[in-house]
Amino acid sequence: MSAYAEVIGHPISHSKSPLIHNFWLQKLGMVAEYKAVDVPPDALAAYFEGRRNDPDWRGCNITIPNKIAALDHVEDPGGLRDSIGAINVVFRGEKGALTGTNSDAGGFYTPIAGLDLVDESVIVIGAGGAARAVLFALAQADVRDVVILGRNPLKAAGLLAHFGLKGRVLPMDARLPDASLLVNASPLGMTGQEPLDLDLSPLPDNAIVYDLVYAPLETGLLKAAHARGLETVDGLEMLIGQAAIAFELFFGVAPPSDCDEELRAKLTI
Ligand code: NAP
Repeated sequence: MSAYAEVIGHPISHSKSPLIHNFWLQKLGMVAEYKAVDVPPDALAAYFEGRRNDPDWRGCNITIPNKIAALDHVEDPGGLRDSIGAINVVFRGEKGALTGTNSDAGGFYTPIAGLDLVDESVIVIGAGGAARAVLFALAQADVRDVVILGRNPLKAAGLLAHFGLKGRVLPMDARLPDASLLVNASPLGMTGQEPLDLDLSPLPDNAIVYDLVYAPLETGLLKAAHARGLETVDGLEMLIGQAAIAFELFFGVAPPSDCDEELRAKLTI
């Protein structure tokens, strides 16, 4: 048997992680494999017990519905239970201990790392799991304030307080305030979901619009941003970014960065 990593969730067949990781393994000519395993919540303990002593197992990505429950089975040196509140990667840390981390926040931040967000205002749509990773990253970037557009004002205000962010909460149909970055962290605009209809005209000409949704790749929000001439970031950038962080933790080498276009083409089929 050779080295392997996995993605675990329930259901799991929709996951794009095997395509991404196996693409990189093949490009690097590595003898290793990345698999998808259906692990319902009541099988999590047995899963980690089984993998803990398997020397070939390098770690796993964790997806819905296991991102919180997995914290009960691994070390949490980064204190993620109390910050983002979820993990999406387990790898072998010091002395091989199963260690949890969250690469969604880093994956979100990678494409905008060149921006100076210090003292800038940011709009975030949604207050779920992805929004938590986004808000964590924005708090680290020292933004001035965050306006959350959400349908559950109490939940959204609780998130701002949790991450120590200044800001306010507005209803979904509010006129957008001035901001240098707008992030959609809701499923609105995704294939099969309701559209996200926003009037982008109040945003300044140098604002960036970032949609975490990647199916379709050009969402209605990104179309509207392009029509206004605004710079955009699509959801595949975060998807590939979070996978790259995990890949290095599993296999000890960074994935190749010169074949992103080929990978993106495979992911949009
Ligand atoms: P989630 O935990 O279910 O949270 C979704 C959020 O959107 C919640 O705050 C929810 O409101 C809000 N929402 C849902 N339907 C709404 C509606 N009709 N009107 C207003 N608000 C609505 O989901 P998630 O894990 O955060 O994922 C959100 C999106 O991000 C998904 O499309 C996912 O595919 C995408 N995503 C992309 C990446 C990537 O790598 N590109 C990574 C993670 C997630 P309530 O709080 O009231 O429930």
